[in-house]
Amino acid sequence: MDSREIIFLKPQLKDVVWGGNKLRDEFGYEGAGDSTGECWGISAHPNGDDEIISGSFKGMSLSALYKEHREVFGGIRAEEFPLLVKIIDAKQDLSIQVHPDDAYVKEHENCPYGKTECWYVMDCPENATLVIGHNAGTREELADMIHENRYEELIKNVPVRKGDFLQITPGTVHAIKGGFTILETQQSSDITYRVYDYGRLVDGKERPLHVQQSIDVITVPDKAGEEALSHTDGLSVNTLNELICCEYYRVWKLTVTKSVEVDQNHPFLLASVLDGSGTVDGTEVKKGDHFILPAGYGKAVFAGDMELILSSVS
Ligand code: ZN
Repeated sequence: MDSREIIFLKPQLKDVVWGGNKLRDEFGYEGAGDSTGECWGISAHPNGDDEIISGSFKGMSLSALYKEHREVFGGIRAEEFPLLVKIIDAKQDLSIQVHPDDAYVKEHENCPYGKTECWYVMDCPENATLVIGHNAGTREELADMIHENRYEELIKNVPVRKGDFLQITPGTVHAIKGGFTILETQQSSDITYRVYDYGRLVDGKERPLHVQQSIDVITVPDKAGEEALSHTDGLSVNTLNELICCEYYRVWKLTVTKSVEVDQNHPFLLASVLDGSGTVDGTEVKKGDHFILPAGYGKAVFAGDMELILSSVS
């Protein structure tokens, strides 16, 4: 393959109890419906493995490409493709949940990756809040509050506005609420422990909770709280703005209003167009597109009028 080839992906979509119609009506994803909550825009996860729809590898799955052509990803050693990028459209509240870390999933779930994730808030209502963190002082108090259904007391609600960025480390109690559209960059994991689901019925039944696992993995006392949150207003346009660099990923925001040169000198660079349209080295891209610039790509010229989130491994 020519290392100057841009690899476009066909997202896998997920219908969920809390999903809405934005992924169909605003993003135009083929196959999205009235309760599509997640678009797995860049994913090689077995629960939603994206197909490559352009170039030399057209028709291949991202997991197969990663397995058979590691050179496309700079020869990194991770046993499975390490990242997953999603757009989440929450029409209703998601369950209150927590994710385990690498050590816990290796021991208890037979998976390679725990779940550190981060959110770029693409849209949300005025005066919105998200659930981030909890108020229990000890694990015993945490267990009591969960067993006694004292969720209002347990959870912390953090004020959030459009353009905010949140890093959610394993062990952090969290919930996305109705009205939020979020671009999520995460470790490639699908392990979620549901702490509380508002007593909601799905097909006449409550979805299972994972009370014991939650009590095991929630960080006590809470460390997340408002520290998880940063604001992105005031970031420069036409330049890569780093939002986070952690053990698992680096994430940048790029707002393009003219020609911008981006140096793809990472093992690979993942890109999602959140809004607007433009070109990447002359190839047209638009809102809702997800693509990968492979290893060795070098300088890429982004042009047009658009907003992107980019990521790579750290
Ligand atoms: Zn989560």
